[in-house]
Amino acid sequence: MPVSAPVPGLERQAIIDLSAIANNIRHLRELAAPAQFMAVVKADAYGHGAVPVARTAVAAGAQWLGTAHITEALELRAAGLEVPVLCWVHTPLSDFTAAVANNIDLGCSGWELEHIVAAARSLERPARVHLKIDTGLGRNGCSRDGWPALVEAAMVHQRAGLIRVVGVFSHLAVADEPARPETDEQLDRFREAVAIAEAAGAELEVRHIANTPATLSRPDTHFDMVRVGLGLYGLSPFADRTSAQLGLVPAMTLQTRIALCKDVPAGQGVSYGLNYVTDEPTTLGLVPLGYADGIPRVATGGPVRVNGITYPVVGRIAMDQMVIDLGPHFRLSAGAAAGTAGGTGAAEPAGILGATAELFGNGNDGGPLVEQWADAAGTVNYEVVTRISQRVPRSYTGGAEAAGPSGGAPADGGAA
Ligand SMILES: *Cc1c(COP(=O)(O)O)cnc(C)c1O
Repeated sequence: MPVSAPVPGLERQAIIDLSAIANNIRHLRELAAPAQFMAVVKADAYGHGAVPVARTAVAAGAQWLGTAHITEALELRAAGLEVPVLCWVHTPLSDFTAAVANNIDLGCSGWELEHIVAAARSLERPARVHLKIDTGLGRNGCSRDGWPALVEAAMVHQRAGLIRVVGVFSHLAVADEPARPETDEQLDRFREAVAIAEAAGAELEVRHIANTPATLSRPDTHFDMVRVGLGLYGLSPFADRTSAQLGLVPAMTLQTRIALCKDVPAGQGVSYGLNYVTDEPTTLGLVPLGYADGIPRVATGGPVRVNGITYPVVGRIAMDQMVIDLGPHFRLSAGAAAGTAGGTGAAEPAGILGATAELFGNGNDGGPLVEQWADAAGTVNYEVVTRISQRVPRSYTGGAEAAGPSGGAPADGGAA
């Protein structure tokens, strides 16, 4: 996999390698076959850009798309994506009418049913519904006790031609720890819920419960369809297995340019709080990304690679900037610091002004990884990529390869 080329002129960017996403999908689809494949593109495709990722996913063979919100699903329809789309997090303010009008499948845990039916009635068009059972996660989904009544109510509406119950689904709580017994208990409850729905007359197109970790580690969870998010983006859901060990390639590279490079004496405090103090004369590099760009403020120590060397962030991460300590060997010679742009490497310290600073990438060349930032921030890789803010333009590579027969993959250089 080639390293993604930066778009010249962008001071900071998240480069999304669409060919990596396409390859990750092909790999995951093979693991999941014969089950169908839903590409989960909620939250702007975990920060990677919902529409370009969705187009890439469909071209790479994903039969379904999944989002949390109706608004996210409508965005896909507005972009011309016509494959089945399911969304599953609603409130009484959600626009069920727009969803039904746009042929968007709706997850239903209970109360939504009457809203969905009202929308279908007003549009004179049956709604496609996936009933959701809480098999143990304790979050969304109908309780076991309420399930038979929900199924019965849904079947009454189906017989009246207002809805079609096309799916039953659930979500796993501990699939990232494959040996835990709770997954088996959830599967038992899921089979029981499916049996109740089928006995009541539901003709299900898809029964689905697997997320990325279950798709990778538990074939017995695949049923008719897997719902994969994190894996599309090339990231590992397991604490003890890397992307490379799973045959996945991280799709997002986050980079900027060094904004300032300067010598400081011993005893120089760095950034708010002065928590880091130089213990010898050294040279600091200023990295113009901060928590407004989505880099967690607590992630001091996170890696930044410049000219092939990886440095930990020192001092507090601020809204717009963070600092790396280049070390005493980087001391700028007199006069050399005066804004000489265009890096020539460690032998020419002034050159790091304007040099590319990479926070994470695909790791193929030993560069820094999303997981190192997650560790520095006390969080998971999911959160790091998802939080990269809209202040960071997205650019895309590998689009032509990913375009496939349906075409329409984004041209290079599009910004989110
Ligand atoms: C987010 C989500 C997924 C995808 O989870 P990953 O671990 O990223 O694969 C699947 N199903 C539901 C209901 C979700 O909310």
